[in-house]
Amino acid sequence: MKVLKFGGTSVGTPESLAFVKKIVESLDEPAVVVVSALGGITDKLIATARLAADSDPAYKSNMREIRERHYSVINSVTLPGKAPETLGVVEPLLNELSSLYDGIALIGSLPAKILDQIVSYGERISSIIVSRMIEGASHLDSLKFIKTERWFNRHIADTPLTDRLIKEAFTNLGKNSTAVCGGFISTDRDTGVTTNLGRGGSDYTAALIAAALDAKCLEIWTDVDGFMTADPRIIPSAEVIDSLSFVESMELCSFGAKVVYPPTIYPVFHKNIPIRILNTFRPHLSGTWITDRQTSSHTDNPSVKGVTSMTNVSLIEMKGEVVENIPEINSRTFNSLAKNGISVLLVSQQSSGSKFSFAVATADLSRAISSLQTEFAPDLEEGSMNDFTSESEMAIIAAVGEGIGGISTIGPRIRHTFQRAGITVKASSHGSSAASQVCVIREERVKEALQLIHEMFFGRMESDI
Ligand code: ASP
Ligand code: MG
Repeated sequence: MKVLKFGGTSVGTPESLAFVKKIVESLDEPAVVVVSALGGITDKLIATARLAADSDPAYKSNMREIRERHYSVINSVTLPGKAPETLGVVEPLLNELSSLYDGIALIGSLPAKILDQIVSYGERISSIIVSRMIEGASHLDSLKFIKTERWFNRHIADTPLTDRLIKEAFTNLGKNSTAVCGGFISTDRDTGVTTNLGRGGSDYTAALIAAALDAKCLEIWTDVDGFMTADPRIIPSAEVIDSLSFVESMELCSFGAKVVYPPTIYPVFHKNIPIRILNTFRPHLSGTWITDRQTSSHTDNPSVKGVTSMTNVSLIEMKGEVVENIPEINSRTFNSLAKNGISVLLVSQQSSGSKFSFAVATADLSRAISSLQTEFAPDLEEGSMNDFTSESEMAIIAAVGEGIGGISTIGPRIRHTFQRAGITVKASSHGSSAASQVCVIREERVKEALQLIHEMFFGRMESDI
């Protein structure tokens, strides 16, 4: 069996849904189809909630548009004769949503819990619609088997429980049958309240299902041809990457490639289930294969597979005597940040001596600084640590390829190329897996930097690695 996940653009319009229908109905094996909300709906659900919280009456017309959009899709895509039944299931959900908005407008605030409930309607409804569009398909409610637990101020998947519940929920998936369910949505394992796996989380739902059911393959159907050697909006000559290792795909995603939601890779990697990235609108293309196969061949002959960039990054620097104890500074810094759900994007290689620097998303900067201030309060007090400094408007540029961390010339070549162009490298590192070489530069130079390194590794001028 296979798991196929279709993103928002793939399920966004009757025309795109016709592609989905064709792809799924031509399968000759059991399949689980995981869908996102209709394209743009999640954003609109959130925007409407904000309007309601501001008591802006425009929330009502937004709600009407949300309703009409779903009704019109139902009327055009459901199997012959199925529209009334589908409308009968969807209408009460839209009524619930509408009452939630009225409630928010009344109290004039938007509690996080209510927002989680609101965004869930996107996938709850889209999955019902898609299940009524595909011949012989059944619908399963993801809220029943995707379970989260609280982790500091976030919800994270309770994977052992979810794994067990998925196995139970799908036991009756028969030969050649298709089950459709919503991505992204979940419930809290203790309270049962509606939660989600984070924006973009439908990919992750699909991966959890693929892993639990030992799927032959996880197919992520999207609106691009696959992973590219660089973002084609910045580098028009970028090409599709035919194959990647799990680690390479993880590195590309964590440094800005928006092809799949980063946590998606882990569950399938663990089970060694290949992932394919495919274009719903060009299904004849072979897309990108992600497998473990490259690991061995590429350690003998490492090469750069792709380059990425990530903006809205900040660099934090700590100075002082305490910084000289590298194991201590590492564990205290990472623990205090992890407790607040902040991930460190990069730790500078030059963290020797009395300077230690690392990068975080700018959105996390103020929380990062305050958690460090708490952790290092005694050291700041006694003077073994000076204050922290931070610089925003930074960007990360990464070159990714399994084994490239072991090639000592790559880092210096990148730095040299940037230096010649007058681009200052503020910090650099190779990723934890040695599958990437990463630099921090000023955000304003990011396009140029990406062009330079894409040209360096993929340009007509042959690179010598
Ligand atoms: N609909 C959700 C979002 O827009 C989840 C997803 O599409 O993966 O973030
Ligand atoms: Mg997505």
